[in-house]
Amino acid sequence: MPDKTVFLCAINNVLSGGCPEDCSFCTQSARHRAPIQRYNFKDPTTVLAEARRAHSYGALGYCLVTAGKGLDDAKTDYIASLASLLKRELPGLHLIACNGTADAQQLRHLAAHGIESYNHNLETSRRRYPEICTTHSWEERYATCEAVKSVGLSLCSGGIFGMGERPEDREDLLESLAELEPDSVPLNFYLPHPSLPLTERTLGRPEALEIIRRAAEKMPGLSILMVAAGREALFAGREEEIFEAGANAIVLGDYLTAAGEDPDRDRQRLLALGYRIAEQCHA
Ligand code: SF4
Repeated sequence: MPDKTVFLCAINNVLSGGCPEDCSFCTQSARHRAPIQRYNFKDPTTVLAEARRAHSYGALGYCLVTAGKGLDDAKTDYIASLASLLKRELPGLHLIACNGTADAQQLRHLAAHGIESYNHNLETSRRRYPEICTTHSWEERYATCEAVKSVGLSLCSGGIFGMGERPEDREDLLESLAELEPDSVPLNFYLPHPSLPLTERTLGRPEALEIIRRAAEKMPGLSILMVAAGREALFAGREEEIFEAGANAIVLGDYLTAAGEDPDRDRQRLLALGYRIAEQCHA
């Protein structure tokens, strides 16, 4: 990243909680009974106001996330209508959908309404996946990523590190991601929660930096290598380290069910460090 440009992405959890799947890292799984806010189909006016605010702080990517295993007709129509609204009101945003497993027809429908990227993480290595989720397979996740590419949407796919995986699982996950040739890769560092089976993050800052370096090495053609969840816990006040390791993007503001840094503080800090906020998306 020779010109020190940082891409900022914000996420909006537009349908939260109540998911019947058993992903052991996720507070939105109903099985874990985590004390999170639950709601169905957030009001579009609220989503627009939140997107406007994120954009005002420099967020260029805007990701519409729904809890649950995957898209159905109601979710597809809802995300498509949100995309139409945001595209009309905030045409500068690069719109991303993150709604779980999806087929080509659903993805085409989203693309026709303004969604430009689809985020679907592989989460961890194929070998390790059955240890963190038993209700759906890693292969289903991979197939959705392939479907995203088949319809011409930009693919955003990454994973979560620090969930007890071994070094070889980290390598294998990065290898699988590299095979998919995504346009952007979000690296999440596990956010422990007392309600979840995994109560600790099993890595520290040096390992996280090594993962960023390895991802950058393995996928030199990536448009966006993003550090997402866990940044505040591991790198607060040391953000330059993640960019020096090869990342060029961060999530601005809150995560799905966890608070993030104040977006204005993040933005001011990046500018003070001499970074430029990206004004165009190449993903
Ligand atoms: S499918 Fe998605 S929302 Fe449901 S538990 Fe897994 S990660 Fe959470």
